[in-house]
Amino acid sequence: MSAGGTPGAGGTLSDEGTVTAYETVVGLEVHCELATTTKLFCGCRNAFGQEPNTNVCPVCLGLPGSLPVVNRRAVELALRIGTALNCRAQRSIFHRKNYFYPDMPKDYQISQYDEPINIDGWLELPDGSRVGIERAHMEEDTGKTTHVGGGGRIHEAGHSLVDYNRAGVPLVEIVSRPDIRSASQARAYVTELRSILVATGASDGRMEEGSLRVDANVSIRPAGSLEYGTRCEVKNLNSLRSLQRAIDYEVARQTALLETGERVAQETRHWNEAGGTTHALRSKEEANDYRYFPEPDLVPLVPDAELLAAAAAGVGSMPAERRRLLEQLVSGDSKAPIPARGDSSTDQVVTVVDLGLDELVAGAVAAGADPRLALARTANEAAASPEAARSLDRLAFAALLKMESSGQLSATQSKEVLAELIARGGDPAQIAARLGYEQMDAVALEAIVDDVIAANPEEWERFRDGDEKVAQFLLGQVMRATKGKANGKTVAALFAARRDA
Ligand code: ZN
Ligand code: MN
Repeated sequence: MSAGGTPGAGGTLSDEGTVTAYETVVGLEVHCELATTTKLFCGCRNAFGQEPNTNVCPVCLGLPGSLPVVNRRAVELALRIGTALNCRAQRSIFHRKNYFYPDMPKDYQISQYDEPINIDGWLELPDGSRVGIERAHMEEDTGKTTHVGGGGRIHEAGHSLVDYNRAGVPLVEIVSRPDIRSASQARAYVTELRSILVATGASDGRMEEGSLRVDANVSIRPAGSLEYGTRCEVKNLNSLRSLQRAIDYEVARQTALLETGERVAQETRHWNEAGGTTHALRSKEEANDYRYFPEPDLVPLVPDAELLAAAAAGVGSMPAERRRLLEQLVSGDSKAPIPARGDSSTDQVVTVVDLGLDELVAGAVAAGADPRLALARTANEAAASPEAARSLDRLAFAALLKMESSGQLSATQSKEVLAELIARGGDPAQIAARLGYEQMDAVALEAIVDDVIAANPEEWERFRDGDEKVAQFLLGQVMRATKGKANGKTVAALFAARRDA
């Protein structure tokens, strides 16, 4: 069970902060397309965005007499995912899941049923809570149907088009235990899972291209109850935002039903992004009978030592581990101030690791930059363009951070130089000079500080008496006189020196 899931005695707080007598229970099924070169059971290319029906062959079109052959690379990636999710790998077999749909040319999907390849794992969220993983099994994707005309809905469409390029693309379906207790925790889970899948090299993690597709099983129960309520499965959650909104909507809908004495029907519901609602697709009481039976054309999958070793070796450093390393790096020797609340270094660490920018921070620190400053500039500024920031020259970044730490550049100037550095590269000192950020002449700055003191005698007295608020005012006067070129820390030191003289 998750650490964050224990309900309070008097009720539980929903994401909106309203007190209800119900606890939210969510389990997620995430379909992940594997980043293989070819499909799961044939040699057709696995590629997104191609001309329709160009990556097809008799196997993935389900033509009579064709036979599937398992893609070894897909098995290795599935095992990597299992390893990264702390699962146990086991002997597995494929089943036929029978149902009719035009985008599935065989009329069955080759999937895994009661003997999946990975079972019994867990995933740790950045807040330390754990979500259990029931299974992570292999299956093939279906094709894609497009309903033409009438807003893309089947009952309004004039006709429908089917593209089989996706049919047979390898998937791993990751089924969590119902350990998730809020919409925001569901979001954190998918975010973490996506980072893990990208780190293993198993997926590109692109939700907008359908590489990750989420179904949510949502139910509510009286706070403190151990029995689960009746759940609804919400489909079509193609973004983190949709996931969060759909769960919030379902919880509100189910709460309203229970509070008016009605019951929740177990059913599959479709998320309508435009309307912000879910609607019923089919009731589980007349549930599909998939008539699962073992796929007779495929032998059982028994991962040998070589395959398991390859999978283990292929699993890179996981986000949780990378966060720990970055925390250590930053909590070490650092002279930059500890960030204010709400912008904690923990949040910054999560952001930086999620964007794959932790190596940039580590590289800059190795080149002598202040760790906390390197983290802050990466999480707040470099994160705005992560692709470009990932290839930022570590030495140039470190040189810039050193210019800021030493007071040669103000924070504002440093951010401007960094933006330029990320966009076009170059030498930070030259960029600073080009932008007119020459170092303030020390003698000139001292003269301006003395002028400001002379011009504001009352404020200066209050500052001498320890009024911290007026310090900001005096600093502001110096900034105005220098057109923002003075370094705030240097100015503060000059005022302090005059006060203590
Ligand atoms: Zn094919
Ligand atoms: Mn599935």
